[in-house]
Parts: sequence; structure tokens; C-alpha cells
Amino acid sequence: MTSLYSINYHTRAHKRDAFIEFIKSLLLTPFVLHTRPQSATGALPEDSNFTNSARKDDCDGGPEGDKNVERYSEILFCVEELILDHIRHQDNKLAELSRLSTLVPSIGRFFTPLPLKESFIKQDAKRSMAARRFVPPSFNDVRAILNDAQVTAIASTVKLITFDGDMTLYADGEDFAKDSQLVQLIIELLRNDLYVAIVTAAGYPGNAARYQKRLSGLLDGFKMSGLSSEALGRFYVLGGECNYLFRYDTDSHHLVYIAPETYQPPSVREWAGNAARISDLLDVAQQTVEERVNEMGLNGKVSILRKDRAIGVVSDKQITLTREQLDEFALSTQRRLNNYQHTILIREGQRPLPFCAFNGGSDVWVDIGNKLIGVQMLQEILNTTGSETLHVGDQFLSTGNDISTRTACCTVWITSPEETAEILIELCHLLSKRDRMRI
Ligand SMILES: [Mg+2]
Repeated sequence: MTSLYSINYHTRAHKRDAFIEFIKSLLLTPFVLHTRPQSATGALPEDSNFTNSARKDDCDGGPEGDKNVERYSEILFCVEELILDHIRHQDNKLAELSRLSTLVPSIGRFFTPLPLKESFIKQDAKRSMAARRFVPPSFNDVRAILNDAQVTAIASTVKLITFDGDMTLYADGEDFAKDSQLVQLIIELLRNDLYVAIVTAAGYPGNAARYQKRLSGLLDGFKMSGLSSEALGRFYVLGGECNYLFRYDTDSHHLVYIAPETYQPPSVREWAGNAARISDLLDVAQQTVEERVNEMGLNGKVSILRKDRAIGVVSDKQITLTREQLDEFALSTQRRLNNYQHTILIREGQRPLPFCAFNGGSDVWVDIGNKLIGVQMLQEILNTTGSETLHVGDQFLSTGNDISTRTACCTVWITSPEETAEILIELCHLLSKRDRMRI
């Protein structure tokens, strides 16, 4: 029998991150038990039996905020220890037996410890979490703590940083602006000996000019940067999730397409060259999205675009698709393609094709391949491990296309190019400290 709890879980799971919800729930306990709205006790008479000096202390401003810092810090320190224990279990290939796996069954892999307590103190100074009496620590508060901790933890080892494109480096569908502060920050990463790659869903098969146009502001910045050829040669673009790789050529100041035969491992080559199977799977995806367009009454309001390795649903200029409509397309297509591949293809002995059906913010795409494969190929080419790689993106829910990278590397979940800039300012600061220590 299906319980109401499990129905609720399944209908909301795609909007939640289980680990963030877990940390939020832990922080809610001190918020509920110890943090009292000032007005509630302030209204009581001085000699009330209900008012003792300790409670008064808790409610008159300063001491309460300080005590909450202690309480929240202690909780986050305990989560730090759960992560350390989980990493020990991972190292022994027993991750599913860790205490954290019991508490958060969907927990993934950690590539570094996370200094959550230290990051909480830093973020609390910006976000006033402990001083708040009416608004408990939120999803965005916890996300900010996790991001800060991840950047702090990886700064001493990072060699490769990969970025999603839309909403991470520039607004949805826009080009990389010349005056974006991210231009100088990315130049700074290259100056600090890092490899930098943009791993984007945007798929223009082998068409360097299209990517150059989207990234024109950044590439112009490279030309003026005075960086060495060696540093600029560490910049890559991987389009269509994992399908089209380009490298910055320092002589021509253009992106140069790299032939897949030179870098694709056999496991990718096996499906990447099979145009008939790719076309079959896209046919099923197309049939699914067409049905959903009909059922949701969107005929004439959206266009379906078919490419070599992708199919997309894009709204016409007059309407904006809601998040719920976009999620419906993504989830229904994920389900249909998984069923199709498992019931038909596995019976015939073929391995499923990797695909990614995701809500792109204002459109929906089904891409052949995914960013996990993209990041893994870059790690192979550049000889970097999970604890040396950081992926920055905005789509980490189950209807997003950045979430798959969590299997291969450390990640930072941002919601806008401005947040990406904040993260990079912190990372560049830590990298300069790393360099000073090496001297
Ligand atoms: Mg994005």
C-alpha cells in the first residue's frame, strides 16, 4: 500500500535536495526550542513567574544571537564528522553502511571533507542566521554554507574547474558579456595554473563560430589579458553536455574543434558513433514531448526543435512556460526513456544510451550524453581526480543537468552569474594564499 508520506515524497522529491533538507531540519530544532520572538516574552510583566533571568537573557538580544551561533556551530560540526565517517566508509567501498547513508539514503559521494562549522561562522556574518528570530535557516542559507565549505576545502588541491553556461556564467540564452566581472575572474583562474572548461548543454555540432559568438566577451578578454600561451591553452569548451570539444588556440585566438577519436574512451565511442540508435531514442523522446504538448494544451505556444543529438521544447516569445510545466516535460521524458531502454534494449542485450532530460530554466532539452561523461572525459584528458575538480552550475535538482557531475567531482550550486562571481572571488583569494605558502 502506498502511504500518504510516500506519495508526498514522490511528488516533491524533484524539488528537494535531500542533504540540504536534512541539515535544515537539524538547524530547525534550536530555532524552535531556543529562539523566542522578543515580543512574546517582552510583553510579560517583570515579576511574572514565567520569566526567569536565564530566559530573559535569551530574549533580550545579544546573548541569544551568541548562543545560537554556538548551537548552530555544534550541529554543523556534527555534520562535518558524519561526512568524515562517510568518506572513511567510501574509502573501504562500504559507503552504504555509513551513518550518513542511514540518515540520508540518497547521499552521494564526497571527494573532500567539508569545514561546515568554519563556513557557517563566515556566512552567518553575511546572512545573520543566528540572530534571526522569525526566519529559520533556509535552503539558500544551507546552500551558501555548503558552497563556502566546498570552495575552502578544494582550494589547496584544485586543478580543473568546470562551469555550466546559462545562468552560471551569463543570463539564460544570452552571450558572455564583455563587461562581466567573470571575465577577469576566469583569467585569474588560468593565471593560477588551473584548467578551465565550460561544460554546457548548448549543442552546435563542430561549429566553433557559434560557441565563439556565445563566449565573445570572454574570448575578447583573453586577447587583452596578457596571459601566456600556456595559460590560455588551458581553456576548453565542451558543448552538447559531452559531445563537442574545443580548445582555445592562442595563435588564432579562436576555438579549435578537437576530433572525438583523439579523446573519447572506448565506452563513449561505442554509443557516440551509433547514429541509428541515437536517432531511435530521440524519436521516442520526440513522441513523448509531442504527447505532453497536446495534453497540456500547448499546441501553437511552443516549438519542438530537433538536432543531431538533442531535442528541445522552446516556448514562443509570447508565453513563458512555468517551472511546473518544464518539470513535467523533463520528468515524463526521463521516465519514458528509462522504461523504453530498460524494457526493450536490455532484453536485446544492448547497454542503455546515456541521456539527460532536463529543465533548462525557460526550455526543456533531451540531450544524448550527459555532463558526468563530459567531466570524466576532461578529467581523463587533463589527468585530474575528483578531489582536484570543481564543477559550478545552477541545475542540481533531479530535473537538472548539472546533478550528474556529483558522481565525478566536487560541486558548487549557484543560482546566478553574480553568485558564481562571489564564489570565484573567494576561490581566487584562497588560491593567492596557496601560492604565497608555496613560495
Ligand atoms: Mg544552467
